Amino acid sequence: MMAETLITPNSHADESSDPPAPPSIESLFSRKVDFHPAKKPFSGFSNGGGGFRLETLNPTTISAPRRLGASGQGSGQSGLAGKKPDGSEFLDVGLDPELSFGITFRRIGAGLENLGNTCFLNSVIQCLTYTEPLAAYLQSGKHQNSCRTAGFCALCAIQKHVSRALQLTGRSLAPKDLVSNLRCISRNFRNARQEDAHEYMVNLLESMHKCCLPAGIPSESPSAYEKSLVHKIFGGRLRSQVKCMQCSFCSNKFDPFLDLSLEINKAESLHKALMHFTAKEYLDGGERQYQCQRCKQKVKALKQLSIHKAPYVLAIHLKRFGTYQPGQKIDKKVLFGPTLDLKPFVTAPYDGDLKYTLYGVLVHAGWSTHSGHYYCFVRTSSGMWYSLDDHQGQEGIWREIYREMEGEKNGGATCIMMSPN
Ligand SMILES: [Zn+2]
Ligand SMILES: [Zn+2]
Repeated sequence: MMAETLITPNSHADESSDPPAPPSIESLFSRKVDFHPAKKPFSGFSNGGGGFRLETLNPTTISAPRRLGASGQGSGQSGLAGKKPDGSEFLDVGLDPELSFGITFRRIGAGLENLGNTCFLNSVIQCLTYTEPLAAYLQSGKHQNSCRTAGFCALCAIQKHVSRALQLTGRSLAPKDLVSNLRCISRNFRNARQEDAHEYMVNLLESMHKCCLPAGIPSESPSAYEKSLVHKIFGGRLRSQVKCMQCSFCSNKFDPFLDLSLEINKAESLHKALMHFTAKEYLDGGERQYQCQRCKQKVKALKQLSIHKAPYVLAIHLKRFGTYQPGQKIDKKVLFGPTLDLKPFVTAPYDGDLKYTLYGVLVHAGWSTHSGHYYCFVRTSSGMWYSLDDHQGQEGIWREIYREMEGEKNGGATCIMMSPN
């Protein structure tokens, strides 16, 4: 059994009090949010011994929260907060006080047994297990101790799984609880059938989101996105802007996201896919005619998506399935680097650093959604990469696995996970 250190952090929120009334959407977007930088540097790269180590990064209550400048100093996990010059819009990437734990993955944990076409589930669970802020939060026991979910709780199930998986280095375990409750997470999934890993990940995150909310908060409300641990880690916000070509009136719509789903049929790289995703689209009449709120008539318009709030952990889905024909795969190489700068794709000009580093990649080998095989690659805290293929876990050589992730052989990445460190 591994040695592990668990330091309980100070409580930041009074969980027993009644939830406040949900704020209006306008107030949420214009509100100033302070992030608390971790007081201790994230010293996760030392110490041999155990499979992982957990520590609190905010050992004492912060009495005077410091707003982070654009350079994001003060934390091993780069927390950033920024504001447009006119103060009306807000962009941030930060480590929420509730997530002020650090975890070090010194070694890779358990492999996962395939319980009958469950490689899609195994790969998703493995990617989530090595998502540092999520694993650290789960290992802190904070959710488990306050869980009020009746029946199956996805967050508790993942917590139990992660805890076991991280302690069973060199062995394998059967994720029976998650497999037997598959339909609590994805209602249209069938046991023993190969399913879409990305769909499972989205449904699982959604389910975890619902399980971590205080009672009485609707899961699709601004207040829920603000309070949810899942949104604090993976959540960002997209802005969809339509500009009238006649009067220049701009209509903005904001939508929360947990991952970005990108078309890849015309993109050879992740950067290109993001450029297409945020490109201006001309609405020039016909079915795509736009009714301007100010002109009160159908007009020509320009539509553009941009990332209005960057997530802390960035999950990107490359749409390899079902774009042309349902179930059929786009089997091509999509290039991406070990790091990504999100800056060109955000709403506002931004001085800070929006650099993300790759830590998990989910790969699909084969020709369609319901066939083929899923496996994944994850990075430990010391920068070692492992291939996790059901019960097998193997250390990989970066150059080689990188080619495999991009699709040199076997079919390439479907989900790409990146974090600030
Ligand atoms: Zn729970
Ligand atoms: Zn107009």
